Amino acid sequence: MSNPAIVWFRQDLRLSNNPALAAALDKHERVIPVFVHEQADTAAWQHGAASCWWLHHSLKALSSSLRKLGSQLIIRSGSDSQSLLDELIAQTKATHVYWNRLYEPRHIERDKSIKQALRDRGLEVCSFNGNLLFEPWQISKNDGGPFRVFTPFWKACVKSGLPGHPDDAPENMPAVSSRVKSARLESLGLLPKIRWDLNFSDQWQPGETGAHQRLDTFLDHAVARYQDDRNRPDIDGTSMMSAHLHFGEISPQQIIEKTNQAIDINKQQGIVANAESFVREIGWREFAYHLLYHFPHTVDRPLYEHFEDFPWKKNYSANLRAWQQGQTGIPLVDAGMRQLWHTGWMHNRVRMIVASLLTKNLLIPWQQGTRWFWDTLVDADLASNTLGWQWTAGCGADAAPYFRIFNPVTQAQKFDPCGAYIRQWIPEIAALPDKYLSQPWAAPAALLDDHNIKLGNDYPAPIVDLKATRERALERYQTIKKS
Ligand SMILES: Cc1cc2nc3c(=O)[nH]c(=O)nc-3n(C[C@H](O)[C@H](O)[C@H](O)COP(=O)(O)OP(=O)(O)OC[C@H]3O[C@@H](n4cnc5c(N)ncnc54)[C@H](O)[C@@H]3O)c2cc1C
Repeated sequence: MSNPAIVWFRQDLRLSNNPALAAALDKHERVIPVFVHEQADTAAWQHGAASCWWLHHSLKALSSSLRKLGSQLIIRSGSDSQSLLDELIAQTKATHVYWNRLYEPRHIERDKSIKQALRDRGLEVCSFNGNLLFEPWQISKNDGGPFRVFTPFWKACVKSGLPGHPDDAPENMPAVSSRVKSARLESLGLLPKIRWDLNFSDQWQPGETGAHQRLDTFLDHAVARYQDDRNRPDIDGTSMMSAHLHFGEISPQQIIEKTNQAIDINKQQGIVANAESFVREIGWREFAYHLLYHFPHTVDRPLYEHFEDFPWKKNYSANLRAWQQGQTGIPLVDAGMRQLWHTGWMHNRVRMIVASLLTKNLLIPWQQGTRWFWDTLVDADLASNTLGWQWTAGCGADAAPYFRIFNPVTQAQKFDPCGAYIRQWIPEIAALPDKYLSQPWAAPAALLDDHNIKLGNDYPAPIVDLKATRERALERYQTIKKS
């Protein structure tokens, strides 16, 4: 019998439309599915706590799916992937290693070095695109350079033809020899010791099945109104696919294919434009990876150099803590930050609003925001998080202009018109009439008394004056513009 091939699962925790797995199964009688958990504590951008929770459950789901097909997920854990793979190769006499590519700068470096080392020893290494519609180097401007503006980028993608017809999952897989030992998933220590994650299981079903169920629900019930509802945090109007996509439990091709099928089945008026707008958001994810690949320094430095000199505040720890804990006294911001803490997710519009408050009204460096999101989001994704923060701070590609400073009061009035979102997350002020819900400080003292609400006691007084800090942010911006 020929030597086995290793399929190294990373951010592609699915069996269907998985090019590395399909290629290995096509060519080899024996295939060993492996997940390697690198416990390099010091490396930057290790999974944050919420992502670890997701990863645990996603691996559990993958492991169970593999078992149903007759295979087994082999888990190895240690300080570096190279030596863990080497050990496994020595034990199994594998001659081939397959994986789907990653695009985070440190993963690119690591994978290059592993590929070279394995090839030097005579192994065959095959890597594939399993996570994006296009490789970041396949789409370029006419002059060959990378795009920095979304619309022409997406036009170029659409013109190239969005890839479709994703493969199904294999129907069965070869068994893995019992001599190949696996670490127990629980031993990876991905679940938190203090159980802050108790609400997460009600909200999420990590894994391939959960991803498809979530997408089907969205396509059945929400896609037809996506353009309007996607901005409403009080409505379940978006797909909530981001963590499923991040961990590769579903591919963007599969999402597009199913969205096209939904259009074909349900030709009701308006669905086409709404579905296209949804697919365009998948395009923003592609754009984020395009930027990350071409401008890897942007994970912690602004794309545009002049922003390096931005006069951020120096002493901000108390305000940062208030922001993190949903205690700024600005209800829409606090609602978002509490939603994030309790569910590991925050609505996109609210992400922009909380990021705007942090970087503009509070003048706290955007990197502090990326790090908090990194630790608390189940969908924490280096490409999309970097793009989202730089976009809001005004220092990245196709960014909101710096002078666009979200007003959390008018945003709440527009996008949470009945206050359902604020009432859900800020019960302390839920009794206030809609008019004052987004700005309790403006409520007459007698009204607050009537409802037994004491600002600064039951709920914080605002930590900033929105109008004055807006002016201050614009003045600071002028200083870098001049320089
Ligand atoms: C400050 C900030 C930080 C962010 N951090 C992340 C992050 O760490 N991980 C992450 O996946 N997204 C991030 N986003 C983008 C966006 O908020 C989320 O992708 C979206 O809210 C996920 O919800 P959904 O799946 O219901 O989105 P939908 O509206 O249903 O969109 C479908 C998919 O398109 C992609 N998408 C949508 N909007 C964006 C966008 N603006 N940028 C990139 N991709 C997008 C996502 O993969 C999403 O799942 C961030 C945005 C901001 C403003």
